[in-house]
Amino acid sequence: MFFKHKQRYTVYTYGAEVLKKPASFIDDIDDDVRQIAVDMLQTMKVFSGVGLAGPQVGISKRIVALDIPAEYASKATTPGEVMLLPRMPMVVINPEIIGYSDEKSTAEEGCLSVPELFAPVERPMFVQFRALTIDGELIECECGGLLARCLQHELDHLDGTLYVDRLTPEEYSVIEPKLKRLLKNGRKNDFKKDIMK
Ligand SMILES: [Zn+2]
Repeated sequence: MFFKHKQRYTVYTYGAEVLKKPASFIDDIDDDVRQIAVDMLQTMKVFSGVGLAGPQVGISKRIVALDIPAEYASKATTPGEVMLLPRMPMVVINPEIIGYSDEKSTAEEGCLSVPELFAPVERPMFVQFRALTIDGELIECECGGLLARCLQHELDHLDGTLYVDRLTPEEYSVIEPKLKRLLKNGRKNDFKKDIMK
């Protein structure tokens, strides 16, 4: 007889300490890191995210899972999008942004760690991105579009910053009551999903 067991996936939400502190660099891409990558890809899928950073699953390491939808590949304008979008979903290790464009754009963002809220964030339109893949390949490329926005959002997580920290005072005041509610509920409100398998 087989017993089904419940697998619980948790994403830490606004107010959790792990979301506020800088994550540490990964020295070795070993079996532990590869297992974290597999678990993060699964968690991202369960919550239908386009990106997930280590701290969001309680792991204070510089690791990010990305899954920009395939439809964006047809709109790719930068070498980074052309190179990386066909490789989604993917995991990057010790990602860095080493250059930003002066040109900026504003778009609505959401975050699995700030459930059910969305707000417009202004960010540089293009970034020069560098990271290791989970296989240890060094990638460096110019990225635009949703990929550039997603990278900036996820890399912020590695430095303890959330997109709500980047809102204008006006935009912040719109969502502030809901943020306060999230904060009050604290860990009880961590975003959880149980999957039977
Ligand atoms: Zn986020």
